[in-house]
Amino acid sequence: MRGLMQDWPMLVHRLIDHAALYHQGADIVSRTVEGSIHRTGYAQIRRRAMGLARALAKRGVRPGDRVATLAWNTHRHLESWYAIAGMGAVYHTLNPRLFPDQIAWIANHGGARILLYDNCFAPIVEAIAPKLKHVEIFVAMSDEIAPLKLKKKPLTYEALIAGQGRAKRDFAWPELDENSACGLCYTSGTTGDPKGVLYSQRSNILTALLAGQSPGLNMSPMDRVLPVVPMFHANGWAIPFIAAMAGASLVLPGPRLDGASIYELLEQERVTLTTAVPTVWLNLLQYLDDNNLKLSHLRRVCIGGAAAPAAMIERFEGQYGVEVIHAWGMTEMSPIGTMSIIKPPLDKLPRARQLEIKSKQGYPHFGIEMKITDDKGRERPRDGKAVGRLKVRGPNIARAYFRGAGRHAFDSQGWFDTGDVASLDADGFMQIADRSKDVIKSGGEWISTIQIENLAVGHAAVAEAAVIGIAHPKWDERPLLVVVLRPGSVLDADAMLTHLRDRIAKWWLPDAVVFVDEIPHTATGKILKTELRRRFADFRFPR
Ligand code: AMP
Repeated sequence: MRGLMQDWPMLVHRLIDHAALYHQGADIVSRTVEGSIHRTGYAQIRRRAMGLARALAKRGVRPGDRVATLAWNTHRHLESWYAIAGMGAVYHTLNPRLFPDQIAWIANHGGARILLYDNCFAPIVEAIAPKLKHVEIFVAMSDEIAPLKLKKKPLTYEALIAGQGRAKRDFAWPELDENSACGLCYTSGTTGDPKGVLYSQRSNILTALLAGQSPGLNMSPMDRVLPVVPMFHANGWAIPFIAAMAGASLVLPGPRLDGASIYELLEQERVTLTTAVPTVWLNLLQYLDDNNLKLSHLRRVCIGGAAAPAAMIERFEGQYGVEVIHAWGMTEMSPIGTMSIIKPPLDKLPRARQLEIKSKQGYPHFGIEMKITDDKGRERPRDGKAVGRLKVRGPNIARAYFRGAGRHAFDSQGWFDTGDVASLDADGFMQIADRSKDVIKSGGEWISTIQIENLAVGHAAVAEAAVIGIAHPKWDERPLLVVVLRPGSVLDADAMLTHLRDRIAKWWLPDAVVFVDEIPHTATGKILKTELRRRFADFRFPR
C-alpha cells in the first residue's frame, strides 16, 4: 500500500520562493568586486534570478545545460545560482585560483556554453578564451565590461536582467524530476585530472535540511551568516541554500578575504556565524592580535576543509568567547560530512579533554553512513585506535563522477572511498589521520601527519607546519617536519622537537625539522604535499 502524501519534488527554486515570501526582513549584504557594499533581500534576489533565467532561456539555455561561473561570493553570484538551478540548468563553478590551463580544462570538461564572470577575472577570461571549446557567450557580472580582448564582445549582467526585469509575470520555474542535475563542481585534485561532482536538485535540498538543521549549523532568521568559503569551493558548503531555508541573513565578502576586511564585515554587519578554512582564521586571529581587537557579535565559527588545530579552537573559544564548529567534508559529499560538537555525557568532561574531542572531525548528521576498513575492505573496529580507509554512503554523496572518471572510488554496495584515513570512536567521533596518499608508513605502521602538524602549530612561535614522509632505508619512510615561523619568532629544531616529545608516541617524532619561508598551498587553501614532497625529494636525514 502506498502512502497518501503529496509528491513534492525537492527543487532548489522552492528555497528562494520560500525565503522571498517569508523572510523579507533578512538582509543580503555583499562586498562587490568593485569594493562597495550592496544591500538587498531574498525577494529582490528571486526577482532578479527570474530575470536572468528568462534572459538565459532566450539565449537557448535548456534544462540540463551547464552555465559556468567564475565569481566571488556576491549577490550576483547568488542570483545566478538560483536562476540557473531554478530553470533546471546546472551551475558549474570554476575556481579562479587554479592555473588558467586547469580552468580551461575544467570548463571544457563541463561543457558550458555560457560563462558568467566577475570583472576582476577579465585577465583569466582573456587567457582561457582561445582554449574554451564550448563557451559562446561571455557575461560580465557587472553593469559594465572591464576592458578585455575577446573575439566576441561580452554581455553585461545588469543589461541582461534589465532587459527582462520589467516583465510582470514570474518566470515559470519548470517542474523537474528532483534527481535532475543542478550543480557541477570539480574536486581540487592534487593528483590526476580534476573530477566533476554533479549535484542534483534533491541532494541540494537534502543537504540544506540535513546538514543545515544539524546542531552545528542550525541557522535561524536571527543569524547573520558570513560564508568566507567561496561558492566555487565544494558547493559553497551549501551555505546559500541553508541560509535561504532558514531565513538567515547573508553577508557575502566578495574578493576581500584578508583579516582586516573580514573583521570589518564581522563587526559592521553584526555577523553571528561564519565559515572558512583554517588559513583564513589564522589571518584573522593574527589581525586581532596585532590590533588588540575583540569580536563583539560573532557567536559561532565553522572551521573545515583542513584540520582545525586545537590551538586555534582554544583561541576562538577561550580568548574570544566564540564557539568553534569543527567540520569535515568533501566536494563529493555536498560537502558537509561531520561536525565536532560536544554532546552528553562529554559535556561533563574537563575543558582540556573537550578540546581534544573538538579537534576530532566529529560525528555525521543523519543521512551519512560511515565506516573504516583495511586495504582489503574488511571493517575495522570503532575503538578510537584502529585507523582505516574512511568510506561513506548516503543520499548527498556522489555515486559517480561526471563523465565516468575515478570509478575505483565507488564500490558495488554504494560506499565511496573518501581517500582519507581515519579512526572512529565509541561516541561516534571520527578523526582524520591523513589523506591515504599522505600517511607515512613507518615500519609497517601508519603515522598521522595531521596530528603532528596540529601539535606543531600549537607552539606559539609556529605559524604553519607540514609533515611529509621521506624515504628511509630501515623504516620505509620517516617524518620530516617543515615549519614556517611567525614573524619575529625564534625557534630551533631541538626546541620544536622538545615541544612534540611529550605529546606523541616516540616513534612518531620527526627525524628532522626544517624551517622555510612559506609552505605551498592548493587553490583551495590546503597544504600542497605533492609540491612539498617534490621540493624535498633529495632530502636525506642526517646520520
Ligand atoms: P575538498 O573536496 O576540496 O573539500 O577536500 C576534501 C578533503 O579535505 C577531505 O577529504 C579531507 O582530506 C580534507 N578535509 C576537509 N575537512 C577537514 C578537516 N576538518 N580536517 C581534516 N581534513 C579535512
